[in-house]
Amino acid sequence: MALFGPTELSADVLEEGLCVGCGACIHLCPYFATHRGKTAMLFPCSAETGRCHAYCPKTEVDLDAISRAFSGAGYTGDPIGSFRAIYAARAQKTDPAGNFQDGGTVSALMRFALESGVIDAAVLTGQQAGIPVPGIATRPEAVDSFASSKYTAAPTLSAVNDGVRQGFTRMGVVGTPCHMTALAQMRLNPTKREDYIHPVALSIGLFCTWALDARRFAALAADRAGKSDIRKIRIPPPPAGIVVIETDAGSVEVPIAKIRALVLAGCSICPDMTAEWADVSVGALEGVDGWNTLIVRTETGEDLVREAVDAGRIVTEVLPESTLAQLEGAAAAKKARALEKAHRDGRLNTTPDENRRSVLRVNADALENILSGKGKAT
Ligand SMILES: Cc1cc2nc3c(=O)[nH]c(=O)nc-3n(C[C@H](O)[C@H](O)[C@H](O)COP(=O)(O)OP(=O)(O)OC[C@H]3O[C@@H](n4cnc5c(N)ncnc54)[C@H](O)[C@@H]3O)c2cc1C
Ligand code: SF4
Ligand code: SF4
Repeated sequence: MALFGPTELSADVLEEGLCVGCGACIHLCPYFATHRGKTAMLFPCSAETGRCHAYCPKTEVDLDAISRAFSGAGYTGDPIGSFRAIYAARAQKTDPAGNFQDGGTVSALMRFALESGVIDAAVLTGQQAGIPVPGIATRPEAVDSFASSKYTAAPTLSAVNDGVRQGFTRMGVVGTPCHMTALAQMRLNPTKREDYIHPVALSIGLFCTWALDARRFAALAADRAGKSDIRKIRIPPPPAGIVVIETDAGSVEVPIAKIRALVLAGCSICPDMTAEWADVSVGALEGVDGWNTLIVRTETGEDLVREAVDAGRIVTEVLPESTLAQLEGAAAAKKARALEKAHRDGRLNTTPDENRRSVLRVNADALENILSGKGKAT
């Protein structure tokens, strides 16, 4: 992986409009900052290489290198990545009822991880006035206050960098696939710091098809719902064609076409729907309210889920075959769309003499697997 610095990060990602506001470049130094969902470089920095560039999920992401470090095997392009088990899951009903997005599995696992000492802090994403705001929870009781999905770019990883400064060494992080990609790049220690200790002991990835520009969404929500606080945003399955914004004062429906116009440009070249580099990945269970799809990928994830089930914190059931097939189809289609777009834009597997640096580096077999549609059939 080629290493560059803040000048290239600013030119290739911020100026090209590809930033997804993940926060990985924030609080590493004084130069990058986030404000109301937007990332900016405040002052020029002349460093030739930097962690900001190396961690960013929209600079060159070498999927083979990440995959080898993650599972020991190269990147195959299989739709939902490598996994050990997949379930339908939800939080145990005896847990305190919260404002969970779906089955509350994410909050239940994070609470349990804090209680059982697997992690020393949980990095989560809340919101203020419709803008996502990351935070660090150290008490299990604090986890539920972050529940529900903010369908906008969130600078969650700035809180991981803050957590390092505060001395946390075993953080748990909940995030979208781009957050998980940045964490996977951190784990590679690309700048070869001798004192590097990866500060994340548990990663819970969320399924993600797209995220919205936070400021534009906050403006739309304020226009439709007034000043009332947003409690939850729901996206009913097709053919509903709407997004429901639930506020303290009631609910408003917005046509999905209006929402799609606010999707971040960087999402169009994102090949990962199911957070392939997380210990466990969680999404909605299509068509079944109050349940999640739970993918267990690593030994850490396997231990956590088994212990959470044994302790009565979550319930798991067999995932219907048809749900898995539907998920794989959607994930394969997202991969193909992203690689085709990156290729069209000259951002896939470029060589140093080409005028654009790659955003994605994918080996030939995986590329063939994805673009031929073979992945969809698995
Ligand atoms: C931008 C986005 C797009 C999504 N797209 C899909 C999709 O296409 N298909 C699908 O099945 N599921 C999608 N999800 C996941 C889904 O909405 C739920 O988060 C998931 O099913 C977990 O539900 P839960 O009840 O267990 O979560 P909860 O227990 O309610 O916990 C939600 C957790 O999400 C974290 N969080 C909320 N917003 C963000 C954010 N913007 N960035 C990082 N972390 C956040 C909070 O810290 C909280 O811990 C998406 C989520 C997000 C944030
Ligand atoms: S995508 Fe993340 S790391 Fe890259 S510039 Fe934006 S906030 Fe920084
Ligand atoms: S689609 Fe990809 S880039 Fe966009 S928010 Fe989701 S994970 Fe991040």
